[in-house]
Amino acid sequence: MTEITEVIDAVETFETFEDLGISETILKALTEMGFTKPSPIQAQGIPAVMKGADVIGQAQTGTGKTAAFGIPVLERIDVTNNAVQALVLCPTRELAVQVSEEIGRLAKYQKGLRIEAIYGGDSIDRQIRSLKRGVHIVVGTPGRVMDHMERRTLKFDQVRMMVLDEADEMLDMGFREDIESILADMPEDRQTILFSATMSKPIMSITKRFLNDPILIKVVRNELTNVNIEQVCFEVKPQAKVEVMTRLIDMYHLKSLLVFCNTKRKVDEIVEDLQLRGYASEGIHGDLRQQQRSNVMSKFKAGVTTILVATDVAARGIDVSGLDGVINYDIPLDEEYYVHRIGRTGRAGMSGKAFSLVARDEKFRLKTIENYTKVKIEKGVIPSFEDIVGVRKARFVESIAASVKESSDADLYLDVLEMLHHSGFSTEQIVGAMAKQIMGVQKNEYSDSNLAWEERRGGERPERGGDRRGGERESRGGSRFERGSRFERGGSDDRRGASSDRFAPRADSRRSEGGGRDESKRSATPEAGMTRLFLSLGRKDHILPKDIVGAIAGEANIPGKTIGAIDIYDKFTFVDVPERDARAVLRAMDGNTIKGKPVQIDIAK
Ligand code: ADP
Ligand code: MG
Repeated sequence: MTEITEVIDAVETFETFEDLGISETILKALTEMGFTKPSPIQAQGIPAVMKGADVIGQAQTGTGKTAAFGIPVLERIDVTNNAVQALVLCPTRELAVQVSEEIGRLAKYQKGLRIEAIYGGDSIDRQIRSLKRGVHIVVGTPGRVMDHMERRTLKFDQVRMMVLDEADEMLDMGFREDIESILADMPEDRQTILFSATMSKPIMSITKRFLNDPILIKVVRNELTNVNIEQVCFEVKPQAKVEVMTRLIDMYHLKSLLVFCNTKRKVDEIVEDLQLRGYASEGIHGDLRQQQRSNVMSKFKAGVTTILVATDVAARGIDVSGLDGVINYDIPLDEEYYVHRIGRTGRAGMSGKAFSLVARDEKFRLKTIENYTKVKIEKGVIPSFEDIVGVRKARFVESIAASVKESSDADLYLDVLEMLHHSGFSTEQIVGAMAKQIMGVQKNEYSDSNLAWEERRGGERPERGGDRRGGERESRGGSRFERGSRFERGGSDDRRGASSDRFAPRADSRRSEGGGRDESKRSATPEAGMTRLFLSLGRKDHILPKDIVGAIAGEANIPGKTIGAIDIYDKFTFVDVPERDARAVLRAMDGNTIKGKPVQIDIAK
């Protein structure tokens, strides 16, 4: 009886196959097979097996176990010795064939090496003839291997390595006795390697009986690490992170994405910001009850939610696949976390994006990560507002084209064009207005030049944005109406509505939070330095704070973030703008439209 001597967590590493001390012939085969980088179980398992230790690999399907044992097995075969030197047991015929084929590919340049798969259902005479010619590696199912042992057509006296692949599966299939008698028949000094997805009692008892001081290597997750992860960082002002993030999501058409940040509070803030912008996102953190957590997860898996925002710890337990990308909203405090985070994407041979948003004071942490991972993280260019409009347009055109092809009842609406023509508009004007309305494209609050921080020389103080949203968030109130309007969007307002909001400048969450109890008083006295304006549109016109911000910011060309409290009433709205901009806003807005509706605007009495 022996105990496990060492436990290794197999995580993504940045080692290469060359680093693992694999011989040239196998390296050449690996290159041909398209394996560029060892998976975690390979990176940890190959060295452990090569040094001769008994190994338990706790790993699920698809983690690359075959090469993890196949490579060290091949390294130990002496082709000049015409005897079985390694035996691999697999639960099924399919797996036995698969494994022998994969080892065969790995052995492509090892001249004279012979592998045989033996399993039930195949002619035993054919297998016997083949075994007689001499085989170095046998891959078989337990039942058929037992058959051959009993017939003495398989001799194991020279076996140095014994592999139990998918051991728990074999036990489940009732092979326990066979396995035990095969193991008991192997030379004492052989090396034993066992793979199992679980460490159940029966597995533990087999390992205790038949393995010597084994090393346990655990793969927590079940996909391969691969090099298909594109790592890019963007130097972004802290307050512009959500803006940049949404631009990246639009630009790269990320439809399934994990966003990581360091604190629970941030999770909530980011989720709220994203939702306000019309992105289907939800958060996962330790404060959620199990039920809420599984709700969030099932919506994400079903694609109802496309963005999951999580802390590192909360993300640990979640199993998601098929992610388009990972965004590091902030840079993790621990390098390991970075590796875990980005390892969530680009799995199973798919490509993935790992974008990191780096504030000035996070730059050094990114450096630490680069040193740790020995990978240079490329610096990306933030997509401009025009870029985003461009991609949105392209997708819009695509979807219209598709819908033109599909819709059989389109003639029903043809007179709409005629009606508009009668009003004196040209087709171009009409299409332009419709596109704008449907796409919801409006001017953006952030000028492209105001997103990134710039490298400074010398010991200057770090950037102190005059527009620290975080600080304002707490101190400014919004009204209950705005809060109401926020919920409307989540409701029957449907998904098309939500996505058409994407271009809207942020309806600042500070306007939707906090006090706002004393409405009458607030509408009478704006904050110092602000002028309160009266707008002739209200809730009945279905306008939202973001529409107002968008219109004013866009038309009067003032930064949306300088716009203060917005109180939407049924038939009118109060909005605070900086005193110095009040005239410009009046000039730009009076008689103009918001969401296609004409508006009168005046200084509030
Ligand atoms: P497991 O036995 O753990 O289920 P496999 O060994 O069958 O996993 O590997 C799963 C798939 O991944 C196979 O198609 C295999 O060729 C491929 N694969 C294994 N290792 C790598 C690697 N390092 N790089 C790329 N592909 C790999
Ligand atoms: Mg396998």
